[in-house]
Amino acid sequence: MRDIFVSIPLWGFLLLIAVLSPLSMYLGSLSNWPPGTTSMVVLAIPVYLAALSANRFTATVTALAATLAATIEAGLLSGDTAQQEPLLIPMLCGYWLLLCPTGIALFLGQIRQRVDHLQHVNAQFIRKLYEQNREQDVPQPNQPADSDHKGQRSTGEISTTVTENKVDYAMLLLTIQDISRKVATQFDLETLLPTIVSTARASMKCQTCQVFLTDMRNRKLNNVFAARERDGNVYVPQWDTGMAGWVLEHRQILTRRTVEESDELQPLLQAEQKAPFALAPLAVGGELLGLLAVDDLQEESPSFIRMLYILSDLYALGIKNAQLFSRIEEMARRDGLTGLLNHVSFQQNLADLLDDSHSDSPISVVMFDIDHFKHFNDTFGHQAGDHVLQETAQVLRAVVPDDSLLARYGGEEFICALPNRDLSDARELAELLRSTLESHIVDFEGQELLVTASFGVSCRITGNDAPRELVRRADEALYRAKKSGRNRVILQRDRDPMAIVRPPDSIDERQQVGSQTIVPQTTNGSE
Ligand code: GH3
Ligand code: MG
Ligand code: MG
Repeated sequence: MRDIFVSIPLWGFLLLIAVLSPLSMYLGSLSNWPPGTTSMVVLAIPVYLAALSANRFTATVTALAATLAATIEAGLLSGDTAQQEPLLIPMLCGYWLLLCPTGIALFLGQIRQRVDHLQHVNAQFIRKLYEQNREQDVPQPNQPADSDHKGQRSTGEISTTVTENKVDYAMLLLTIQDISRKVATQFDLETLLPTIVSTARASMKCQTCQVFLTDMRNRKLNNVFAARERDGNVYVPQWDTGMAGWVLEHRQILTRRTVEESDELQPLLQAEQKAPFALAPLAVGGELLGLLAVDDLQEESPSFIRMLYILSDLYALGIKNAQLFSRIEEMARRDGLTGLLNHVSFQQNLADLLDDSHSDSPISVVMFDIDHFKHFNDTFGHQAGDHVLQETAQVLRAVVPDDSLLARYGGEEFICALPNRDLSDARELAELLRSTLESHIVDFEGQELLVTASFGVSCRITGNDAPRELVRRADEALYRAKKSGRNRVILQRDRDPMAIVRPPDSIDERQQVGSQTIVPQTTNGSE
């Protein structure tokens, strides 16, 4: 609430006083109160609001303005200069208005300063503690890699038998806070995975850390980021066997020592080329996202398992967030029905393509619109129409080169941008697309549907052609293709006004393809 008052500037309070003054004068003229008193009461509202902002200058100036306004009212209403006595009351109220808010503002300001100071001291203290601990944590050159592990259990639970007094909880909390902040702010797997590896290595004092993501469909683990690829010595986890298989099945942390010490678990090591020091599952809720393998510990701290337990949870949440984020980004970029780029992302990608390519290299655009598409919807239902759109997208994908940008531009309009292809290449490709579409029979629930489309082709004329201009020319050529009979390719007007590549076969001929073949009906009036 206070933030609202703080955000009001001084002129805001003065304006409020200017607005309230005539009202208070009017009320004063109606009441029997001594002149100036009504103003004092009414104008006290903005004055106290200004005081609450704890800005002494604003509060004082507002109080002065209110006092002035009240004194003017007192002067106006008292009229008779002989009646000076009633002015005493407004004068007293004026002092009250001046002193009280200024006092409040001073008091609040001091409290705020104190809180700021305490926060500053606290932050400095924590930072010092953090720095000190970091210095102590730097491994000594001759320090043995394996410290005393007596009494530590590590399978699937936090070890509580570790010498508790050795665990520095303040440090642990600070480290976890630091890591969670880093993980929570990375929404891109490409930056998150290095962050996971670096924070895991620093906090658990290990030289090697590998993150594996599950590929549920192929039942395998993909090594997405390894901290240190030591030739021929990288851990390769197996889905069904070894330590990894056990961790995936039980969703619990497992250390090599636990396996070695347990008669029951020892067979797991037979399937391992190089068992890591510890493996932790990366899971969120019931979903298993991957594995975290930690190895080559410089020093095993008493809080190692505790840390691994907490961090694997944190990392799993970070990975899940990043995966969700990229899925949402992909959904926003693509058309849900065909999987092609949508209109907006096509425009952006085309602009990037034009910017990135050399102004001399040709870039062409082919735009096409399915002929009489409405007929499919009207005759066979919208599902048939959807199916035609999906099949058309598949034909488009199959025909155009891999480096092209493909998009569904609108309802039944498609577009592709072809880098390094001039108008003649683009015309050839459009013609190939047209003939492929024409000969491709779309099967919908036993009905054979014939699809044709009309094409417009444009090409970058000057190095400065804007993406909109390129699309506009292709669109204009497409319009002419529709006008001149459909199922044909027409080039942009600027280059070749007469360029009609191929007239379509007559509808009658096409109807002979088979008794089940349905051809969209032509409506002469639609042209
Ligand atoms: P023309 O040869 O002149 O292009 O005629 P047309 O029937 O193809 O074009 P028109 O603009 O008359 O109709 C396009 C129709 O496409 C209208 C709209 O309902 C339909 N449509 C747009 N988006 C979708 C979609 O996602 N699914 C389905 N099934 N229909 C769609
Ligand atoms: Mg159409
Ligand atoms: Mg259309």
